[in-house]
Amino acid sequence: MKFTFIPEYRFNKYSDASAEFLLKEGFRGIILDIDNTLEPYETAVPGEKLIEWFDSLRENGIKVAFVSNNNRKRVELFNKELKFPCYSKGKKPFKRNVLRAMADMGTTRENTVLMGDQMFTDVWAAHNAKIPAILVPPIKDKTDVFTKLKRVLERWVLNRSEKRKK
Ligand SMILES: [Mg+2]
Repeated sequence: MKFTFIPEYRFNKYSDASAEFLLKEGFRGIILDIDNTLEPYETAVPGEKLIEWFDSLRENGIKVAFVSNNNRKRVELFNKELKFPCYSKGKKPFKRNVLRAMADMGTTRENTVLMGDQMFTDVWAAHNAKIPAILVPPIKDKTDVFTKLKRVLERWVLNRSEKRKK
């Protein structure tokens, strides 16, 4: 994990992190961001496709936990039926709740991965906890100036790391 903000994996969609992929890479637990990784901000509960993906993870013995920086009301409603270990106001990029989620799942640094849509919160949080990260593009991005600037900065960091690899 040489670069703080650079994810080990980049996918187009959460479901690309299939049970098959996770098992092949040796992962037994996945810590998930919610907003814009799994569903847009305004979607209160998990959709059918997302539930199918959770089912396939469960059938393959892969543990799931949520660490969201969003508020308790949002996270608890989203997790109501799923009942995964979950942390709202997760304070990513700090590692504390990532480590707690890992302890709840009973997994270790060697077999846990974190997936999210933000380099400066999700990917950084994973690396602070010394676990790898999967980055997906935000499902439905905000259009405010701050978000747009953040995307420019993210692209710059990613492009730089691509160049370094060459
Ligand atoms: Mg997010």
